[in-house]
Amino acid sequence: MTNARCELVHEEHESEMPVCPVIDMHAHFGPLLLGPDYADKFDTARVCDMLRGLGVEKIFCLELLWGDEFDRLCRKLEASGGMVVPVGSVDVFKALEPGFEYLVRRTLEDFKSRGGVALKLWKNMTLAGERCFGRNLRLDDPHFEPIWSICGELHLPIVIHVADPPCFFRPITPENEHYTCLSQHPEWSFFRPGIFSFEEHMEMQEAVIRDHPGTTFVVAHVGSYAENLGRVSDWLVRYPNMYIDIAARLDQLGRQPYSAREFIVRHADRVLFGTDFEAWFPPARAAGFYHTHYRFLQTRDEYFDHPFPDMLGQWKICGLGLDAATLRKIYRDNARRAFGLAVG
Ligand SMILES: [Zn+2]
Repeated sequence: MTNARCELVHEEHESEMPVCPVIDMHAHFGPLLLGPDYADKFDTARVCDMLRGLGVEKIFCLELLWGDEFDRLCRKLEASGGMVVPVGSVDVFKALEPGFEYLVRRTLEDFKSRGGVALKLWKNMTLAGERCFGRNLRLDDPHFEPIWSICGELHLPIVIHVADPPCFFRPITPENEHYTCLSQHPEWSFFRPGIFSFEEHMEMQEAVIRDHPGTTFVVAHVGSYAENLGRVSDWLVRYPNMYIDIAARLDQLGRQPYSAREFIVRHADRVLFGTDFEAWFPPARAAGFYHTHYRFLQTRDEYFDHPFPDMLGQWKICGLGLDAATLRKIYRDNARRAFGLAVG
């Protein structure tokens, strides 16, 4: 991407605030992104004060934790007074062991009894199986079945991140539109033997959602396929148990603003506000990060940086200028409904 200064002269809303308080249902305060010593890397009360100042009223902490490690995270987040909602997971790498169903039930009932509102699942289910299983399991493998059915039974929505952008499954060449990011982080590439293709991932994802109509799925990162809004739109029409979040995909949405706007307005009841915020962001970074999200959704500003300019797409984005009613659904109402959060 060129670093040349842009000579466009136009109105810029760089300090945009949201039209109502927001629920950010996709953020990270724990070891998944901050590492094992996460607790030393931020002060919960201070982060919450800062977020409140940026219009956030509640924020989910998505982690692959259960048992004692989940308890430890909850203790770290206690100072938030309920503002940070811890979301734990289940040990998916026990899926081939006898008693997995019992383990899932015990873990999920425990979350539920302590006020848990969702279960977090991650791309490692289909991409990191070799170490534990000797091979990768399909997402729709029958061994994972207890997760889908017990979440349905307990009314525990699943926030799931499947695969990664399609480019991460293609060769790292200059033709790859995430070439810069993948050259810097070759470990993010899934272009190697023994890995399900991106297309297979989309088929497996659809199969699981289709076959479990009684289970709610919030599929992160624009349903895993922000590059193909037509496909995601078809899924949303076909599967009323599916929601999506927009976390870390403003690069994709903002380079197709006409399609993205149409898509979000059409599915205004099924799109959730998530950001992939990390609790250790310094205050200036956090402020710019949230302002950019609001600017993208609320204004028609053109040609500005998305929230992850150093990673992901090496291009600029345009704002969607959504109306206030749509914004309120995305910011707050949909999350309240999907996760059964108390109003007030
Ligand atoms: Zn995330």
